[in-house]
Amino acid sequence: MLSKVQLARHIGRRCLSSESTKHCQLLIVGAGSGGLGAAAILGKKFKTTILDPADHHYYQPYFTLVGGGLKSLDDCRKPMEQVMPTNVKWIKEAVDSFDPSQNFIVTKNGTTIKYDMLVVATGIHPDFSSIPGLEEGLKTPNVGSIYSPETAPRMIEVLKNFKAGNAIFTFPATQIKCPGAPQKIAYLTDEFLSKADKREDAKIIYNTAGGVLFGVKKYADALWKVVEEKEIIVNLQHNLVRVRPDIREAVFERADKTRVSMSYELLHVTPPMYPLREVARSSLAEATGFVDIDKLTLQHKKFDNVFAIGDCTNGLPKTAAAVAACLGVLADNVVSRSRGEELKAAYNGYTSCPLTTGFENCILAEFNGFTSEPMETFPFNQAKERRSMYVLKKDIIPAIYWKLFVKGRWTGPSTFRRLMRLGFS
Ligand SMILES: Cc1cc2nc3c(=O)[nH]c(=O)nc-3n(C[C@H](O)[C@H](O)[C@H](O)COP(=O)(O)OP(=O)(O)OC[C@H]3O[C@@H](n4cnc5c(N)ncnc54)[C@H](O)[C@@H]3O)c2cc1C
Repeated sequence: MLSKVQLARHIGRRCLSSESTKHCQLLIVGAGSGGLGAAAILGKKFKTTILDPADHHYYQPYFTLVGGGLKSLDDCRKPMEQVMPTNVKWIKEAVDSFDPSQNFIVTKNGTTIKYDMLVVATGIHPDFSSIPGLEEGLKTPNVGSIYSPETAPRMIEVLKNFKAGNAIFTFPATQIKCPGAPQKIAYLTDEFLSKADKREDAKIIYNTAGGVLFGVKKYADALWKVVEEKEIIVNLQHNLVRVRPDIREAVFERADKTRVSMSYELLHVTPPMYPLREVARSSLAEATGFVDIDKLTLQHKKFDNVFAIGDCTNGLPKTAAAVAACLGVLADNVVSRSRGEELKAAYNGYTSCPLTTGFENCILAEFNGFTSEPMETFPFNQAKERRSMYVLKKDIIPAIYWKLFVKGRWTGPSTFRRLMRLGFS
């Protein structure tokens, strides 16, 4: 929320200089998966402006394969101007503050943008600084993370550097994007070390702050078998609170608040993640800082000309798969709102996580993120590890992403699901 002084300054600036004041019918903040997909669809219907300071758009699901040495960073990114829809105006700036009661935002450069309708798509952000010692640790050859484009390419060097000892993988106490990824990189590490003839010298440990291995029982049961076969030790309710890179030690807090230190030769950290600070301190956010929307219509609970999509929202699953399933709903409801009609489209909770269990195997988890019930596309048991699902993860889904999703032509596999299941959803 702007202070009165800031507000007066911004309004003053708006009146004094038309250069720094813009108006658009639809403003989208954030050009990640949600923002870009929304721009591609809604840019055809409204005079649309999109705001994002980034040079590149990333296909983040590939970060896991980059960490495992199976893909390069170049495979997961494209220059932003290459993926930006042509009929949309891109302002390469970062949002600084939102004033939804007055229908404007202000950028870090002081540009005021007024809008008729707003879509927030600013994602969720890893905070490496929130764990003492982690940032220093990430500069050493023993600590890595697939959770940023800066750190993911270094993970394979951390794997190559491994000699013998504990290889520890963590899962934090906050919400994160793609909650399956922290264990996918553990499974890739298991296979990498086997191929390098070092697996017998490694004790792989998966420490999660959570109370379960995976949130959907059907897939959790399958994953417990995978960890057993791979002889991976799982410690539930172990939250990473400190890294001591000088003595290669990681400190975990257990549910009863007692602490345990573990030495490591390799440490993969999934850091705590938070919504964008500029969103969290605005009146768009609920108490935890996420945009407070109705999870079915994606419309803001207080400001009816505001919608949100993706990881910045409260209560929506945090995957690109969920974003895809929301895109059609968002587009329909934004159009309905612009016409003053009732919002009829509703998100069905679909999300998916292709759980890479090795260099050639994958369990394709597809489920309802609200009820944790499976919502599978294929007419076979998807809890089984399959090579075909690995090909889907590695080659087919990324092609769908670049050729269809970011062009607004992919809203999830629901049509295929109905076809495969002879009309039953
Ligand atoms: C390692 C990893 C593995 C994953 N694996 C999978 C998977 O297998 N399957 C799957 O479906 N999903 C996966 N995901 C999750 C998926 O990538 C995200 O859920 C998805 O990208 C969310 O889209 P979004 O638009 O909400 O956020 P993002 O795509 O993160 O986009 C946020 C955008 O906001 C912009 N932004 C930031 N600050 C500002 C600002 N101040 N002003 C304006 N714009 C700003 C950023 O530049 C960015 O472009 C994975 C993610 C990671 C990191």
